[in-house]
Amino acid sequence: SKQNGRGTYSFFGAAMNDRIAMHRALIHEMRHGITAGEFFLEYQPRFDTRAGTVRSVEALVRWSHPERGRIAPGDFIPLAERSGLIVPLGRWILETACRMAVLLPQIGISVNVSPVQFRDDMLVETVEAALRQTGLAPGRLELEITEGVLLEDAERARATLDRLKQLGVKLAIDDFGTGYSSMSYLCDYPFDVIKIDRKFISGIDGSENGKAVVQAILSLGKALGLSTTAEGVETDSQLAALAADHCHEVQGFLLSRPVPPERLPQILAKANG
Ligand code: C2E
Ligand code: CA
Ligand code: CA
Ligand code: CA
Repeated sequence: SKQNGRGTYSFFGAAMNDRIAMHRALIHEMRHGITAGEFFLEYQPRFDTRAGTVRSVEALVRWSHPERGRIAPGDFIPLAERSGLIVPLGRWILETACRMAVLLPQIGISVNVSPVQFRDDMLVETVEAALRQTGLAPGRLELEITEGVLLEDAERARATLDRLKQLGVKLAIDDFGTGYSSMSYLCDYPFDVIKIDRKFISGIDGSENGKAVVQAILSLGKALGLSTTAEGVETDSQLAALAADHCHEVQGFLLSRPVPPERLPQILAKANG
């Protein structure tokens, strides 16, 4: 804590120091939590828009902290990235998700890959090892990658994407439309799937323009022969608009929240018959 020139307490300085201390503590606790089994995965189903069946699930990491309770990924993923812990955590996520997917042979599994993981030299080997150790068919694994990773070193990013593609896994561009020059990325890199960001999906209910933007992304996907997935579908009117415009898959609270793996067999039995 600090005193400023007039002798009053500096909230700004104090808050900064507290935050840095908090971040340090969390990084330390995260390192411990990974080995202590405090992390677990939930899975959010992705539905075929036409058939209503579950085609795959997205793995989403959760942290149940013994004292602080549940911490949202938005709060700990950035710290895991800054500290490098995302690499061992990401490896655990991949293995756990692949192992779960082997138990549900009808569907695919989608796993988020952070930009820091993507730049890790061992990523391709890590993915290969997860497939080998679990026996999951590569074609059932999809990696969700945000376009930010393509900004820094385009040639290296392409080499990594090509190597992943050679393993036989699918590649999705996540949060599509939130970064820069997404269009050129789509043409130049070997993606299979566009995931339209929630921001655009919520825009569908707002205005005709909002609808037009989503239509434009869907046409682009179609022109490039890519599969399209909408994330964050929350309303019937969004779902209806996406179905009318031939979006292939939909995912969102309207259809299912992320659930623990024990719930999946029941959801699959109901949706896939
Ligand atoms: P994301 O990859 O864009 O994941 C989608 C997020 O939207 C998830 O939040 C999901 O629970 C939430 N969501 C799904 N449907 C709806 C909806 O209809 N409405 C609303 N408002 N939200 C919805 P979550 O699980 O809190 O994850 C937040 C972000 O944290 C993810 O965004 C991703 O960037 C990151 N993250 C989560 N799990 C992992 C992981 O295993 N690895 C990595 N690297 N990042 C992860
Ligand atoms: Ca994602
Ligand atoms: Ca996303
Ligand atoms: Ca998003």
